[in-house]
Amino acid sequence: MKEIINEAESVLLHTYNRYQIVFDHGEGLYLYDKEGKKYLDFMAGISVHAFGHCNKELKDAMKAQIDKMIHVSNYYYNEPAVEAAKKLVHATGLSKVFFTNSGAEAVEGAIKAARKYHYLKTGKADGEIIAMEHSFHGRTMGSLSVTGNPHYREAFEPGIGNVKFAKMNDLESVKALVNEKTCAVIFETLQGEGGIYPATDEFIKGVRALCDEKDILLILDEIQCGMGRTGYMFFYQKFGIKPDIVTVAKALGCGVPIGAFVLNEKVSENSLKAGDHGTTYGGNPFATAAANKVLELFDQTNIIKNVKEVGDYLYEKLEELKNLSDKIVDHRGIGLIQGLEFSEPVGPIINKALENNLVLINAGSNIIRFVPPLIISKEDVDTMIKILSRCI
Ligand SMILES: *Cc1c(COP(=O)(O)O)cnc(C)c1O
Repeated sequence: MKEIINEAESVLLHTYNRYQIVFDHGEGLYLYDKEGKKYLDFMAGISVHAFGHCNKELKDAMKAQIDKMIHVSNYYYNEPAVEAAKKLVHATGLSKVFFTNSGAEAVEGAIKAARKYHYLKTGKADGEIIAMEHSFHGRTMGSLSVTGNPHYREAFEPGIGNVKFAKMNDLESVKALVNEKTCAVIFETLQGEGGIYPATDEFIKGVRALCDEKDILLILDEIQCGMGRTGYMFFYQKFGIKPDIVTVAKALGCGVPIGAFVLNEKVSENSLKAGDHGTTYGGNPFATAAANKVLELFDQTNIIKNVKEVGDYLYEKLEELKNLSDKIVDHRGIGLIQGLEFSEPVGPIINKALENNLVLINAGSNIIRFVPPLIISKEDVDTMIKILSRCI
């Protein structure tokens, strides 16, 4: 592995401080490194592998599509895109889909739709967006501009402009920023990278009502917390509200790069028109064949029920761990997206876990994030807890 790592550092731009492991293959809940060591994967490619590594049905669907046609162009129609879009419309309760290649691009599209909606309504290209502190929406210039981590933005200013930051779960802080230019409010229904902070019932319903009253668009980013991970297909469904636009990615392709923004009828009828937005690869038949199979698997399996049951169990076990260690100061989350906050950086614990055949990931320096494949069982939680408690 050392040799590959040295070669990697000589040719890949060093934008990550990577763990010193070269993974070779995966199967279900397990990853194997180049030297044959087996790891329990509690990271799932960062909330990606809902059905574990190398799911047979997903592989078969992808192989079949490879043999037919990988790519054509958005100047033509293709059937996998239509099938995947129908399922995504059904799953979100919204109306129209635009497929992208990543989460950041889904956020970009949502921002463009909101700006265009405002432009058509007011005749002015001055729409303002309210985003949240500690949010994460991606690394491209638009998505970075609504990301509430000043450290990520600092060297790349000015961003797209007309963005203001409020406090997550503080409705008054949102209200204080609203004016006649405000065209959208964007937040993650459950903040992932920022440290596993779910929206409160009061906040999400309050923002929805505010947006309705002022004709402001509500954009919910469910790139990380969506696709069943919270025990709801989309977390906003827990609150009985709908956004005007939702962004989806990560588990949508279960490893195949695909994202989407999905709009309700009002926004799809009054924003982006032919010529306003496009992509070469987005929605190609290979990527959408994967998304179509993923969405079919959600429909045909009891996976969300499993997330609720095993998620509750994980919650209990992490509470027990918290009560045993005075280094653990908080425990948050729901379903299979939970976090343990420590009073010190968690890097050493994660390295120890890797030595002991367990893959974990942080969210910020002091938080361990638990985002395993959605197919895990209670026994897998027990295995993870046993290793983790030793490492702590
Ligand atoms: C990962 C993530 C993104 C960015 O997705 P990419 O595919 O990495 O561009 C955006 N929003 C949230 C909430 C995410 O977790």
